[in-house]
Amino acid sequence: MVETLNLRDGIGMTSARTRGRMVERLREQGIKDETVLAAMGSVPRHLFVDQALQSRAYEDTALPIGFAQTISNPYIVARMVELARHGEKGQGRALGRVLEIGLGCGYQAAVLSKLAREVVSMERIAALVGKTRARLRELRVNNVKPKHGDGMHGAKDFAPFDAIVIAAAFAEVPRELLPQLADGGRLVMPLGHATQTLCVVERQGDQFVESLLEGVKFVPLLPGVA
Ligand code: SAH
Repeated sequence: MVETLNLRDGIGMTSARTRGRMVERLREQGIKDETVLAAMGSVPRHLFVDQALQSRAYEDTALPIGFAQTISNPYIVARMVELARHGEKGQGRALGRVLEIGLGCGYQAAVLSKLAREVVSMERIAALVGKTRARLRELRVNNVKPKHGDGMHGAKDFAPFDAIVIAAAFAEVPRELLPQLADGGRLVMPLGHATQTLCVVERQGDQFVESLLEGVKFVPLLPGVA
């Protein structure tokens, strides 16, 4: 009886327990920052995808979110957020204002909202901004500001940012973004086209120190708005 109920409601596949298993897997995959793991454990990923995909929301896989875009797999979201927090050694720093480029369905923004005072998130597809703004409101994620615009130029009016996280790949670090980084802040993005590498740029005064990490696969960062 209980089993039948679970199957009908999808509870078995979308519960806190399922999320707990996802967190254990993230730990095994090398995520060390406990604050990031706790945030990943508390955001209901299944509520960010279409109902038909909800049962797959906690698998380590990318999922379609419409408009030919995808939500990244949980590992890469955790990894990018951990890097933004300087959390690779286990304990990252709390973030003030963060800029996300590529709001998409709002999942990564919701994770960031647990770790930052405020998240400004840019999205070039107007229809996605509207849909995601409504979703975030419904889920009472109040410290994410979705903005319609080309994130390539950043968001000067809100700068400086403690972290900039780009959820789409580009051949180079968009130059306009670097001056919008606070001292000690970090920009995290997939660099490249066909072959992409995770890239971190850390601001140290007037210096920008770039590190290249593992290979990744993201949708492209596109110019202009849609
Ligand atoms: N962080 C998202 C993943 C979105 S996929 C999530 O958790 O769902 C990448 C997103 O970047 C897409 O929605 C795409 O439309 C957007 N994007 C691509 N180029 C952009 C640009 N120049 N400015 C803003 N958003 C952009």
